[in-house]
Amino acid sequence: MTDTQELTAGEAGGALVRAGGVPATTHPVIETRDPRTGEVIGTVPDCSAVEVAAAVERARAAQKAWGGMPFAERTKHLLAVRDLLLDRAEQLLDVIVRETGKLRNEAVLTELMATVELIDHYAKHGEKVLRREKVQPGSMLHKRAYRTFEPLGVVGVISPWNYPFTLTMTPVLSALFAGNAVVLKPSEVTPLVGVEVGKLFADVGAHPEIVQVVTGGGGTGEALVRSGVQKICFTGSGRTGKRVMAAAADTLTPVVLELGGKDPMIVCDDADISRAVGGALWGAFSNSGQTCMAVERVYVADSVYDRFVDEVVARTGKIRQGDGPRDDIGSMTFDRQVDIVERHVADAVEKGAKVLTGGKRVPGRAGLWYEPTVVVDVDHSMELMTDETFGPVLPIMRVRDDEEAIALANDSSYGLNSSVWTRDLERGERLAERIEAGNVCVNDTIVSYAVPGLPFGGIKESGIGRVHGAEGLREFSQSKSVLVDRFGTRRELWWYPLPKSTGNLLLRVLRLRYRSGFAAKFGRGDKP
Ligand code: NAD
Repeated sequence: MTDTQELTAGEAGGALVRAGGVPATTHPVIETRDPRTGEVIGTVPDCSAVEVAAAVERARAAQKAWGGMPFAERTKHLLAVRDLLLDRAEQLLDVIVRETGKLRNEAVLTELMATVELIDHYAKHGEKVLRREKVQPGSMLHKRAYRTFEPLGVVGVISPWNYPFTLTMTPVLSALFAGNAVVLKPSEVTPLVGVEVGKLFADVGAHPEIVQVVTGGGGTGEALVRSGVQKICFTGSGRTGKRVMAAAADTLTPVVLELGGKDPMIVCDDADISRAVGGALWGAFSNSGQTCMAVERVYVADSVYDRFVDEVVARTGKIRQGDGPRDDIGSMTFDRQVDIVERHVADAVEKGAKVLTGGKRVPGRAGLWYEPTVVVDVDHSMELMTDETFGPVLPIMRVRDDEEAIALANDSSYGLNSSVWTRDLERGERLAERIEAGNVCVNDTIVSYAVPGLPFGGIKESGIGRVHGAEGLREFSQSKSVLVDRFGTRRELWWYPLPKSTGNLLLRVLRLRYRSGFAAKFGRGDKP
């Protein structure tokens, strides 16, 4: 890649995005910047609704062959995409790092590893998940029933900037494994990563049009929602998610919404404090806190609170922030997000919170650098404890016991991830059951996302639907129920003319099969 990349609509996404004859010079464009310095590193087309519609049509044409292939053949192709991804890893990492400001190490772990693991998982288990499933026909023993999982058609994927590779590849791959084609609208903050995703699929050959990339802003995203695709998988903020759902309602287009979180961490009185501190720091500061599953609030049992806070502050002081190979955290990615972080910290301080370390932008450094920050004396009157901060800030609150911790953890409009820290695993799992969230870790955080067999998604305002696991593949399939008459008899009991005895006969069958006492007497039906 050159230092500054200028993509015409035809080049963005290899051959996948076409400008419909609009010359690149007059086509509206979006600039993308290196957040570590503020320098412009590229421009991409801001695609119109007409261009989105054309991309959907190309995807629809490509889907016919792709969706008609056996699963094993699709898998072979997607394993070739995985191989190309691994061969191109350095080039991909370069674009990811330059557009997000995250560190290369972080990008390997959270962007590439999670994607490769997912491909491997669906390659091994996907066929079974999408296989025809036999269903018991109840009393109609002369029928055969089953369900199939068929491709939906074209899936629209709208992705965010915080993990622009893995959070794009996850829905794209899931949709493809299930036999769909995809039109992708990457975030306007990190469009070059989206373009690289498009190139991966285009360059493997054989099926170059199954992923179409349309770069652009919110207008392009809305055009995709309204384009007649069979499903939208949106990952982003709750505010935009609600708009997406409202627009999708006009055409009854189904949606998966992967939205924000305010994830609680509960530290019990018997926790391994050193491990809990390590988890809190990594959970709150990795990717500069711009993780939907980040630790955003910590509730610590009274008896271990002081030790926990002291160790958090001491170890935060040793975290190296920068863009070198020995650094621990990089810059933030999006300028407006830094404003939100500043606003939350200021609001908390105004209401009585105390900043123990950090609490400001890195002095004298251009770009989006915010110091790892620890805040105490917080409560639920503060935005820092109720709204998604999405920055490197760790607010810690003292609690009496497990009951108070659970009550506070559940006092949230979000429900994405959460964690419980205790040496007693049974206690941990009991508390995990009571937390209102789509995901819970015991003595760990965030990494549950990297287990591709575990469905991932939120409850409450954190989202609708799941990615990963069997559910994540079936999200992108059409469940079709099939009933087959086995014997071809002349008529059914309930067809016209309706025999007078039909009701009584059916009632007798129901009693014989299902009435407990009666069934027990005749040795038929279910045991109580
Ligand atoms: P965002 O909502 O601002 O944007 C997400 C995407 O939606 C972008 O591609 C954007 O261009 C597009 N968009 C904007 N307006 C649109 C509209 N009207 N119709 C259709 N699309 C539109 O989110 P963001 O700032 O890019 O990402 C950060 C947010 O994403 C945080 O809230 C974070 O928690 C959340 N997130 C959730 C998950 C998850 O899996 N649950 C993962 C990562 C990030």
